[in-house]
Amino acid sequence: MEAQIAYIFDPEKFYKSGKDMLDVLTQYLKDIQQDTISVNQWMSSSDLSAQWTRILSSNPTFKELVSCVIDHSIHLHHPHYIGHQVSAPAPQVAVVDMMVSLLNNGMGVYEMGASGSIIEKIMVDRFCQSFGYQTGSGFFTSGGTLANLTVMLAARQSKGLTDIWEEGADLKLALIVSEQAHYCVDRAARIMGWGSKGIIKIPVDDDYKMRTELIPDYISQAEKEGVKVIAIVGSAPSTSTGKYDDLERIASYAEEYNLWFHVDAAHGGPAIFSGKYKALLKGCERADSIILDTHKMMLTSALATAVLFKNAEDSFSAFHTKAHYLWEDSQEYDWDNLAQRTFECTKQMIALRVFFLWQLYGVELFDQHVTYLFDLARKFGTMIDADDDFEMFLKPDSNIICFRWVAIDKTDVELDEFNQHLRRTVLEDGQYYIVQTVLNNRTWLRLSLMNPLTTEAHLDSLISYLKQKAKEISAVSNT
Ligand SMILES: *Cc1c(COP(=O)(O)O)cnc(C)c1O
Repeated sequence: MEAQIAYIFDPEKFYKSGKDMLDVLTQYLKDIQQDTISVNQWMSSSDLSAQWTRILSSNPTFKELVSCVIDHSIHLHHPHYIGHQVSAPAPQVAVVDMMVSLLNNGMGVYEMGASGSIIEKIMVDRFCQSFGYQTGSGFFTSGGTLANLTVMLAARQSKGLTDIWEEGADLKLALIVSEQAHYCVDRAARIMGWGSKGIIKIPVDDDYKMRTELIPDYISQAEKEGVKVIAIVGSAPSTSTGKYDDLERIASYAEEYNLWFHVDAAHGGPAIFSGKYKALLKGCERADSIILDTHKMMLTSALATAVLFKNAEDSFSAFHTKAHYLWEDSQEYDWDNLAQRTFECTKQMIALRVFFLWQLYGVELFDQHVTYLFDLARKFGTMIDADDDFEMFLKPDSNIICFRWVAIDKTDVELDEFNQHLRRTVLEDGQYYIVQTVLNNRTWLRLSLMNPLTTEAHLDSLISYLKQKAKEISAVSNT
């Protein structure tokens, strides 16, 4: 055997580097939790490229490389990470991921991932049960974006009148969604060849929920233009605002017009586990399909999305592919050959992450997590509301909240620029990580409270910090 190959496959070397890594990551978690390093060390991409070039020229060790990766990554476990909707994974999930990666079972067919397939089924069944799908089924796939596309392909086979998978599309089809939906729903329609007429965006009301009363008008308008609407997607919640659509009302329209009803619960599906907040999802049990990302509100690493169908057989309809080298004919509708139902062929054992958490700590873990973060956003809303320097966009439904710095003597356009400047300053300073969005043509600062280690005290200090930065910016622009 070549020396290098022998070296990298030596189990003792694995143990040594694993232990080094564990030491580094454990110290990292301690540092993060005590705020001895800041959430982000901002560097422009050109500066960081130059730094990496320098480091690589010095022949770095394993530990040095690891440190450099960590130093120039954003720290999701830091209590000041309040930006995008990616979870700070439970550290134990990273340990499970080590096994997932090492075993590397592909799971396209049962024999290439027996335990992975069984565990995926156990998790899908648990989710179906939680959402009230008595005879449901589903699978895991790599992210909400792909999950939504997969569901729309199934909807097309179910409601599209002809077998589009076999014959191609003659009819012009469309789906309905709120104008606040995640952009991947728009992409799914376009990927399916439906074009811009294939994605009908319904305006939102003052609370940024889909104006469901407009659904009949939009359907008849589409019909006049020769477009057949086959599906409607509810957001639970929509990404920018964190607002849940009224799923009950959408369900009723879907039933009346014979539409496929899909709930994009990528972010907020796990509210189903919260005794306090599950009512936000009322109506989802009437949907034909639901997706949820475990890597957002269920404390796992990315990507791992559950795709659930109310009727088990619909879970087979997105890809009517015959791949004879993988499946014998008789196996075509067996649940255990997962690649029949997913876009992926090889797929990691991604359901193991959420499975281990659920199995070891119980489903209450997710109740605690979701309830705490949704509560925390409401508390932040109260703080912002009470402060004249800030304006809250809307009372939060979930753990996403938008607000902005305001001052009486500025126009809206000046305020937009000011808040963009403020957010840029925060990014480059690195003490906190928050993001921004545009709503109603105005710029808003946006928080997603993802980290269970973030407390009210951290949010209190965020407010003081933002005021301080705003003051500094004003002072500079006044001179
Ligand atoms: C995050 C999100 C998506 C996209 O999911 P990915 O896992 O990032 O691909 C889709 N829809 C909603 C509502 C989301 O919040």
